[in-house]
Amino acid sequence: MGGMLAMQLHAVGRPLVAAEVPRPEAGEGQLALRVEACGVCRTDLHLLDGEVEVPRLPRTLGHQIVGRTVDGRRVGVPWLAWTCGTCRYCASGRENLCVNARFTGRDVDGGFAEHAVADERFCFSIPEDLPAAQAAPLLCAGLIGHRAHRMAGDARRLGIYGFGSAGHILCQIATWEGQEVFAFTRPGDAAGQAFARDTGAAWAGGSVGAPPEPRDAAIVFAPDGALVRAALRAVAPGGTVVCGGIHMSDVPGFPYAELWEERSIRSVANLTREDARQFFALAPRVPVRTRVTEYELSAVNRALDDLRHGRFEGSAVIVP
Ligand SMILES: [Zn+2]
Ligand SMILES: [Zn+2]
Repeated sequence: MGGMLAMQLHAVGRPLVAAEVPRPEAGEGQLALRVEACGVCRTDLHLLDGEVEVPRLPRTLGHQIVGRTVDGRRVGVPWLAWTCGTCRYCASGRENLCVNARFTGRDVDGGFAEHAVADERFCFSIPEDLPAAQAAPLLCAGLIGHRAHRMAGDARRLGIYGFGSAGHILCQIATWEGQEVFAFTRPGDAAGQAFARDTGAAWAGGSVGAPPEPRDAAIVFAPDGALVRAALRAVAPGGTVVCGGIHMSDVPGFPYAELWEERSIRSVANLTREDARQFFALAPRVPVRTRVTEYELSAVNRALDDLRHGRFEGSAVIVP
């Protein structure tokens, strides 16, 4: 079948390695894809750093794939690669919590490569009118942001802590739905705050700054547990704080009074195909426009480093 370039995790804590590997062949029920674009996600940093375990190495990371099938269709491949369909979570509409789930770019090879294969049942159709690089961030940042947004419930004022790939997509949807968005960035990140205002946020400032007024709900995308408490202190009675990341530093202790009055804290994990169906119906109506910085496949380590240090606004995307 020939070979291809894949950027693989060989050892935790080390940069991804450029490897010449056999082109993957599609098995039963799988699609063979030529990768057109693959988004970079903070989860990739957690995998790289060993904060989220990769069961077997080497592994090709990348779980926001826009690919072209052999018969010319364009599809998107998300983080959720496979579920068992029979466990109690799968049987109750919560396949995101499937006890046997496999995830793209963790349990199966992902899209930091020239080609990939994916289970067709977990692929979504991607419209041709959206450039591949702009569509890629929708496949994790968009989908998980949407799930977090639904978990936040009805809120007139919504706080977003960490205004990156997921934040800038969600802000567009929230403002389109009539919510007032308060965006919290790293303190002193004037460019990030300006980007948030350009994207529709009513207010943007540093995450340790004084909140302008109580929010009805907040979503924490930044992997800093201290922000969970900051968000909790800034939500009104009855408000929910949703943690949108797969890994976070420890959440500091806090007095019960800060949780009192029916405030709640919850996390979101992964996505269901139903989330994707809803999100891909909604996104074109807004319409969601992603801000992307493109990198060549061989430059994925630079993209990851730029993400770690906040060197771009919006999303980073690998374009092989
Ligand atoms: Zn992700
Ligand atoms: Zn299951």
